[in-house]
Amino acid sequence: MKFGTKAIHAGVHPDPTTGAIMTPIYQTSTYVQRSPGDHKGYEYSRTHNPTRTQLQDALAALDNGQHGLAFASGMAATDCVIKLLQPGDEVISTNDLYGGSYRIFTKVYEPLGIKFHFVPMHDMEAVRAKVNERTKLIWVETPTNPLLNVIDIAAASAVAKEAGALLVVDNTFSTPYLQTPLALGADIVVYSLTKYMAGHSDTVMGALVYNDDQLHERLSFYQNACGGTPGPQDCFLVLRGLKTLHIRMQRHCENGRKIAEYLKAHPKVEKVYWPGFQDHPNHAVAARQMNDFGGMISFVLEGDRKEDAIAVLEKFQLFSLAESLGGVESLSGHPATMTHASIPAEARKAAGLSDSLIRLSVGIEDVEDLIEDLKQAIG
Ligand SMILES: *Cc1c(COP(=O)(O)O)cnc(C)c1O
Repeated sequence: MKFGTKAIHAGVHPDPTTGAIMTPIYQTSTYVQRSPGDHKGYEYSRTHNPTRTQLQDALAALDNGQHGLAFASGMAATDCVIKLLQPGDEVISTNDLYGGSYRIFTKVYEPLGIKFHFVPMHDMEAVRAKVNERTKLIWVETPTNPLLNVIDIAAASAVAKEAGALLVVDNTFSTPYLQTPLALGADIVVYSLTKYMAGHSDTVMGALVYNDDQLHERLSFYQNACGGTPGPQDCFLVLRGLKTLHIRMQRHCENGRKIAEYLKAHPKVEKVYWPGFQDHPNHAVAARQMNDFGGMISFVLEGDRKEDAIAVLEKFQLFSLAESLGGVESLSGHPATMTHASIPAEARKAAGLSDSLIRLSVGIEDVEDLIEDLKQAIG
């Protein structure tokens, strides 16, 4: 089955009691048993819920994976993966990682004895240099946030296999429409469903997708034991969002390309970060592993002054200044004070993240209106 058909049909079934074509919101905490232990596969909604089951099956199908697990947020999904580790274990990750992932790694798990290395991962030699016998996990995010570096998933998989480590890919920016990391050798795919997957800026949720049955035993144990599970209403919203993922992503990519080109030609813009450009340092990898280049763009104004960036952000009419990304509406952000404020200034600088960088999440509005907005804001 092709992607768009799967986005609409995979994992979901008409409701057996009424024939309802859309998955009902099973707003229940518990399920009646005929006799102790004699039930229909559902006992308690932290453990299983039918709305969540259908979403998890849909998510697994979109990534061509065997198993999907849904969580109350992308961070709860991330947390579940790190629980696979023990004190003394080491993780190698990218140095322009999502700020919240950096925070949970360094502020929650480092004090518990897990060691994290942050390296410029588009250079696989930098990864290899940190591998040792304690390396248990390699954590990739691609394209990265907000600098849109592209990491070679197949190459990272080769390093992980040599090290006997798991390869985890945060696929939030790409979605399975743009790339399916399991097919490139990843062991676990992580999502903030909050972003493109749900797509309408109306819910916070996360997920994991993977193939291995033993991993499933452990991860689903943690999902239930630690309890970071989503409610059925949120699962319903993500299921509804997924049905248009392919057409939303297509438009995000089309608009993204036109806006990246507009910005690149603008005399007041010094630098544009977008992996679709031929001269993007990782363009070849992006062209190989992604189906298109996405709607996330970052740029720096001429002169690289923070106050100029703030002035542009204040002038935007359509690009609303807000955290998050991947919704139907366009958003703008200032990573240094917003999404990436939890990364120390020196670490931001080392990763090449300027305090004057503006990040755009290009929505699916008419692109002419978006370009008008950029024109009036940048001047
Ligand atoms: C938003 C985001 C997360 C965290 O997800 P939440 O749903 O906000 O908890 C993780 N990774 C990336 C790349 C994100 O953009």
